[in-house]
Amino acid sequence: MSQTEIYDLIIVGGGPGGLTAGIYARRAALKTGLVEKGLPGGQVNITEGVENYPGLESISGFDLSQKFLQHAKSYGLEFIQQEVAAVEPGLDFHTVRLANGDLLNSHAVILATGGSPRKLNVPGEMEYYGRGVSYCATCDGFFFREKTVVVVGGGDTALEEALYLAKIARRVFLVHRRDAFRGSRILQQRVTAEPLIEVLWNTVVTGILANDEGVRGVVLKDTESGSSQELGADGVFIFIGFLPNNQLVPQGIKMDADGYVITDEKCETNLPGIYAVGDLRQKYAKQIITAAADGCTAALAAALSVEMKKAEKMTSKFL
Ligand code: NAP
Repeated sequence: MSQTEIYDLIIVGGGPGGLTAGIYARRAALKTGLVEKGLPGGQVNITEGVENYPGLESISGFDLSQKFLQHAKSYGLEFIQQEVAAVEPGLDFHTVRLANGDLLNSHAVILATGGSPRKLNVPGEMEYYGRGVSYCATCDGFFFREKTVVVVGGGDTALEEALYLAKIARRVFLVHRRDAFRGSRILQQRVTAEPLIEVLWNTVVTGILANDEGVRGVVLKDTESGSSQELGADGVFIFIGFLPNNQLVPQGIKMDADGYVITDEKCETNLPGIYAVGDLRQKYAKQIITAAADGCTAALAAALSVEMKKAEKMTSKFL
């Protein structure tokens, strides 16, 4: 498309929210482009198994994101493999500035940039990332066959990934800062039933130990007694939630104290024509299905708003 042509909708981010928005937008005949810098699918790509997407009893995260992608492609969604440098709100249209200098002008923009793993911020974490420290069991679990690993966290992700690693590693220590898990009951039951997983309650990791070959253990602190001890391990997998990727959210858009974008029920932000969906948006449940639902809502709302905007322009032309 030429740089002067105006899109009806630009979607920033190709996870379940962005791809679903693309499907609905194309079905509504919007001239739509989806900008994604990496592999379409987002975080789902690195999820081992998905067992709660209705109609699909069990599917790998990668396969599910491929299905989203193929579905969006079947409607002719335009993919723009680029990094977005900025989203600049305007009156007539908004501008999405790409890292290569191109400008995409659009009547509506859907921000679907998701979130990233939260960091522990302990000594050794960043230094040994990729050398024993990981945020993705599906990606790195293979390297820990018959080894000892530490998993940190107590939510659904930590429980799921600990179960996955128990199929590969010799031993899994699941370190949680409280005495109860946040993750779902069904995953808690599976973790309890897995003999290779040992849960260390009321415990935090205060440091990651390593030598020239990579991680060799962690320093653990008992939150009740305050005592510290070392635990030998070959890998440390950190799953302590995530933070919204809000770097591209334009100034003036309202966010909550945690950095999630506040929207109305149409997923529209306080700046007309700019929408936020999925893990970027403040909401109760952050699931694949709710991200997809947001994408649907935002695209339908954008379609109506773009249609009305164009109709208004036509009317004013003939007055
Ligand atoms: P989460 O639910 O926010 O859980 C984060 C866990 O990390 C909590 O147990 C928390 O402890 C712990 N934690 C946070 N900061 C910590 C720190 N600095 N040090 C030590 N521990 C820390 O995150 P999540 O597990 O990534 O899940 C995110 C969302 O995705 C959730 O809504 C979850 O239900 C959903 N999800 C769903 C599925 C599924 O349905 N199959 C799979 C994965 C994720 P506290 O409990 O003490 O706060």
